[in-house]
Amino acid sequence: MKINNHLDITKIRNDFPALNQKIYGKHLVYFDNAATTQKPKIVIDTINKLQSEHNSNVHRGVHYLSDQMTQMYESARKKVQDFLNAQYVHEIIFTKGTTDSINAVAFSFGEAYIKEGDEIIVSEMEHHSNIVPWQIMTKRKDAKLRVIPFDDNGELLLEEYKKLINSKTKLVAIVHVSNSLGTINPVKEIIDIAHKNNIPVLIDGTQAVQHEKIDVQDIDCDFYCFSGHKIYGPTGIGILYGKERWLKEMPPYQSGGDMIDRVTFEKTTFAELPAKFEAGTPNYIGAVGLGIALDYLTNIGLNNIQNYEKELLEYGANKLKEIDGLKIYGMAKNKTCLFSFLLNNIPPYDTGIILDKMSIAVRTGHHCTQPLWDHYKVEGSVRASLAFYNTFEEIDYFCEALKKVQKMFS
Ligand code: PLP
Repeated sequence: MKINNHLDITKIRNDFPALNQKIYGKHLVYFDNAATTQKPKIVIDTINKLQSEHNSNVHRGVHYLSDQMTQMYESARKKVQDFLNAQYVHEIIFTKGTTDSINAVAFSFGEAYIKEGDEIIVSEMEHHSNIVPWQIMTKRKDAKLRVIPFDDNGELLLEEYKKLINSKTKLVAIVHVSNSLGTINPVKEIIDIAHKNNIPVLIDGTQAVQHEKIDVQDIDCDFYCFSGHKIYGPTGIGILYGKERWLKEMPPYQSGGDMIDRVTFEKTTFAELPAKFEAGTPNYIGAVGLGIALDYLTNIGLNNIQNYEKELLEYGANKLKEIDGLKIYGMAKNKTCLFSFLLNNIPPYDTGIILDKMSIAVRTGHHCTQPLWDHYKVEGSVRASLAFYNTFEEIDYFCEALKKVQKMFS
């Protein structure tokens, strides 16, 4: 058995109640972490406690509970600021998740800066949530979407990217880590190239924040988005980081309570950041839960997590190579511990269903990246996405299970 020197995986697994259950009488092997991660007990307990003892709407309340919840909500914002190393706390906007964050920027940035003939650059490996909002916005504004291609290893073609940039380019929106291939894109370089041309960059960090330390000032992105549920936090909460200068200039995305300064029937003035982008009652319990998840990860250490996941990646890649007829998609030099593959001619769905019966949870299909699969001329894949609570033994069991699937279809 391989032992990791820095993390006590047995202890960590005990923090996650969902991992210690049996499905069909066997221990669950949870390899669907790119879809959503399991939650540590401390996050679950905190949410329960907040719901049962501390629930009260934030902001403006003069009573004890409201004041207490407001302080917790704002202190969660500070935790996110520290986690991303943002310059100002008001650059952190709570949203419902990445999809909501990108829609907010697409609408609001579009309203402020996009006119007929302008261009937005995305890449061929984007999640649908970093394609469709731009498509809708560019259609509304008579602007254009341009696409950076990738090679068969799943690496973006930066020379092609440079060729796409021109005086009409108004924004670049790129995924940090591909949810279908695991590719870690060179975002710092991508941002640098854009900034040399005075073009702002949005990074979809949904699959990156849980695997490596992100420093938004170091990479110098203009916007960074992620979802709480993919980083061991609650569902229904997410983050939009935006540089102050953009958020100040951009109009609100949604309107109503909390985001106003003064309302009359003639005119409304808006609240300062971050409230301007947080219309309505926010998911304050989700926000505090997310803060607890970030504390949990910070205590374990993202460096330790990254190193252990690299070991899992190397081990898994070598084991999967031994399986004849298994074709991996996404062979980038720099990638997370995610294996997207097809097994012989077996439809991914069938592989997934049989693995499920062996208590292994994987995802099958297009993973919300249909244009990416068009590149490979296949419909989708089987995706095993691992987290720092997964083990080498689970990889062994998974590989044996895949061989059994092959036998059943041979
Ligand atoms: N971007 C990427 C890369 C993702 O993997 C996902 C979800 O799988 C999203 C965006 C959308 O995240 P959510 O559904 O939490 O809004």
